[in-house]
Amino acid sequence: MFALLLVDLQNDFLPGGALAVPDGDAVLPVAADLIPRFDLVVATQDWHPPDHLSFASQHDRPVGTMITLDDLPQVLWPDHCVQDTPGAALAEGIDPARIAATFRKGCDRRIDSYSGFHDNGHRRSTGLAEWLRERGVRGVFVMGLATDYCVQFTALDALREGFETWLVTDGCRAVDLRAGDGQRAIDALRAAGVQCLDSRSARDVARQNRADRDEVGRYDQEILAHHQYLQLVRRGHWEFARRHNASGAVALVAVTDERRLILVEQFRLPHGRRVIELPAGIVGDEPRAVPELPGEAAARELLEETGYRARTVRYLTHGPTSAGFSDEAVMLFAASGLERISAGGGIGREQITVHEVPLDEACGWLGARIAGGALVDPKVFAGVYFAAGPAKG
Ligand SMILES: [Zn+2]
Repeated sequence: MFALLLVDLQNDFLPGGALAVPDGDAVLPVAADLIPRFDLVVATQDWHPPDHLSFASQHDRPVGTMITLDDLPQVLWPDHCVQDTPGAALAEGIDPARIAATFRKGCDRRIDSYSGFHDNGHRRSTGLAEWLRERGVRGVFVMGLATDYCVQFTALDALREGFETWLVTDGCRAVDLRAGDGQRAIDALRAAGVQCLDSRSARDVARQNRADRDEVGRYDQEILAHHQYLQLVRRGHWEFARRHNASGAVALVAVTDERRLILVEQFRLPHGRRVIELPAGIVGDEPRAVPELPGEAAARELLEETGYRARTVRYLTHGPTSAGFSDEAVMLFAASGLERISAGGGIGREQITVHEVPLDEACGWLGARIAGGALVDPKVFAGVYFAAGPAKG
């Protein structure tokens, strides 16, 4: 199931409010249109005590000043969204009856909380991720105010928590404290693995999701086996594998400035032979204080396996690892601005061989390897496609 996440649609962020976001009220009709199309709608609410330390008034400093608060960078804001004031109330026109739950944040005066999932230091959770998971939510559509702060942080945390994450672009507006902040936020979200779409497309995805959910609902599900890394799941008559301690997989189309495609070769035990693949790895399989973003995991895997550090990592597409075999999805990222800083080879016993194949010769090289008995992951050919075309620039 997919959920709609309404970020901070509160009076103080609307024109006339204490921290009005330019053109902020333009997102309200988008919200009103999308709300009835989702079975689950959740709102976040900035909810500060009157002496919150993100308020410039507490420091006698001008609004917009950057300070350090409890070891974290903090912008100083006008007093806003003070608990139980009209400014903190949800905007008129957002029907509270359609909102299944409201998650309040920024309640601790010593730390700000842009994200609906965690405070800015990732020290305390609001419980939103667990709440969504308990209800079987796998994907979230994020919209609201403001793009460059609470929307951005909420969408990034949704990704970190393993939710497929969309940003409804016309359902957001930016503060733009510095010109271009809103666009930079969207670029950062795309790089991390958030999919951006407009509300028209969001309606289509929501409609399809309802139909899919009804179809899945016709089948019972059972966990047939549960081991250290994998579950065997049965849904209806269909058996498939699930990684229960990871949120997904990433693979990289890494191209050097000299237009060489980076591939890896390693002995794969399930196949009992060496396989040529894109550099790739699992996301969220190691406990961390702040969970990795898919884009971060991709950059780390590239470095571990190949020794290359990427200046830029950019989301390309995603899809099933193997649609009938597993419910896992793999996100494909383009990596560019490569610099080799170590030998690579993987960690532990991975024993990875790194190949640098001139892009123009890639298909010939792969054909020769296949003819010589090597096994090539077909995702490599998707990599060649992206490297030659849309992955550039
Ligand atoms: Zn606030």
